[in-house]
Amino acid sequence: MSNALELPQEHRIPGGIAIIKLGQHEKPPTVTFNNTRVKTLQSEQDQWLAVVGIPLTQSPGEANIQVNDVKHSFSVSDFAYKEQRLTVSKKHVQLSDKNLQRVRKESKLIRNAFQQHSATQPHSTTQLHPTTQQQAITQTFQRFDWPVKGPMSSPFGLKRFFNDKPRKPHSGLDIAAPTGTPIVAPAAGKVVLTGDFFFNGNSVFVDHGAGLVTMYCHLDSIQVEQGETLERGQPLGTVGATGRVTGPHLHWSVSLNNARVNPKLLLKQDTNP
Ligand code: ZN
Repeated sequence: MSNALELPQEHRIPGGIAIIKLGQHEKPPTVTFNNTRVKTLQSEQDQWLAVVGIPLTQSPGEANIQVNDVKHSFSVSDFAYKEQRLTVSKKHVQLSDKNLQRVRKESKLIRNAFQQHSATQPHSTTQLHPTTQQQAITQTFQRFDWPVKGPMSSPFGLKRFFNDKPRKPHSGLDIAAPTGTPIVAPAAGKVVLTGDFFFNGNSVFVDHGAGLVTMYCHLDSIQVEQGETLERGQPLGTVGATGRVTGPHLHWSVSLNNARVNPKLLLKQDTNP
């Protein structure tokens, strides 16, 4: 196959990625994990691979994917993410009924955006399948560029406690940058949702195909519209401090088969230039 296949870095932990060899299949195998479709692709050796996002809520131990309805097990290791303990006033923790209703509505929209599994990714290439000589849509995989320049201010997976009560772990990574700094699409994709959300502020969701979705939060301005196709490197908005934040930064989430995974596993470069 001539297309570049830049697989993500594998790390079989909660919040990580498992790359599972599926052997040879005449037709693209259907793979699910937790009842969600999983991204599959073909390696150069004509092997099919499943690229499985492991949610932060996954218990360490045996996990199972279904490959054409046949169970395939793999093992998830434990990982000690860093902890952060904060003391916050009650009014920051408790939501009014009105805000609670708003948050519930928005959670549904966000869930729908992450649950996308579009059949083909933007700019996927059509080519002859080398063994069957049939036309097949090839799911390529290209690693991400950093969406914004700046230091990481909060890592992925951070375990947060407010007044000693566990909150949801940090399901993205934060990059600090001044308000107005351009944010670019780290790979080609399609804008599937934009809006102003209670916690996340101005946000953009980009579908990169086959269950790979990215989310950009706390934007000062949104420069794209729902339905728009983006090229790699195309500006989508600017860094801001909208929503529940203390200062300007980009919260960036990467989702694979509806599991938020460490964005670093999909980046071309480990450090932000
Ligand atoms: Zn964040």
